[in-house]
Amino acid sequence: MRNLLGPILICLASMAQATDAPASHPGGIVRLDLGPAEAAAPTVRFQGRRVLVVEAARRWQALIGIALDAEPGWLSAEITDAGGRQREQPLAIEAHDYPVQHLRVKNRRHVDPNPEDLARWARERDAQDVAKRAWRDPAPATATLGLPVDGRRSSAFGLRRTFNGEPRNPHSGLDLAVPNGTPVGAPAAGIVSLTGDYFFNGRTVFVDHGHGLISMLCHLSRIDVAVGDRVAAGEIVGRSGATGRATGPHVHWSVFLNGNAIDPDALLGDS
Ligand SMILES: [Zn+2]
Repeated sequence: MRNLLGPILICLASMAQATDAPASHPGGIVRLDLGPAEAAAPTVRFQGRRVLVVEAARRWQALIGIALDAEPGWLSAEITDAGGRQREQPLAIEAHDYPVQHLRVKNRRHVDPNPEDLARWARERDAQDVAKRAWRDPAPATATLGLPVDGRRSSAFGLRRTFNGEPRNPHSGLDLAVPNGTPVGAPAAGIVSLTGDYFFNGRTVFVDHGHGLISMLCHLSRIDVAVGDRVAAGEIVGRSGATGRATGPHVHWSVFLNGNAIDPDALLGDS
């Protein structure tokens, strides 16, 4: 099998060079040029999900979120143009070394949840997964996001983590350390699609910006919005805190694209 894979991989690599396959890495975004924004936007699907397509400099551009646990190698997106013609677009996924971060949390149950905690976590996970993978019309006016709070970056996206010495999932968002009670703004306009008080994430607000672009804001001390509320960019959705699994007051901000958590920095504007 090993002997067979070598030539296949080389063949794929030369194919990608010939087609100029766009590249990214786990937790990153593939920006896929889809031609002039004259006809209606093409439809793009990736791993069974619709993908955000935005207009940039009078061209259509697909923004494809790559999962943090994606293996380096080749993936493919399916593009259907306005006329119904379909084609496959290979995407090159390159390895990316995220640093390791060791954390200590006081509440041992946040490291080794007991059966009740696990049952609660499983219940909460289902609702959150639905919110992370939602597809809601209309498309966002912009795919450029703003920071929810102006705070010190205390933990970057993608860090491979240990809690009290035990390996756990990589960090799927950006942490911004701010004093308890700091107003937390929506990173872009959207609709509040879910709120809750969760085992790991604490008090949390999901803002659905449209077409698979979704923000999740965690560890809040207070939630100031309700499901269904329409919020403008920067509008206050709650106050920062340290609820759930947190080592101190901060805002954890995750950004989802086509169901995958991606590095928020990839969509952050200049301001
Ligand atoms: Zn975090």
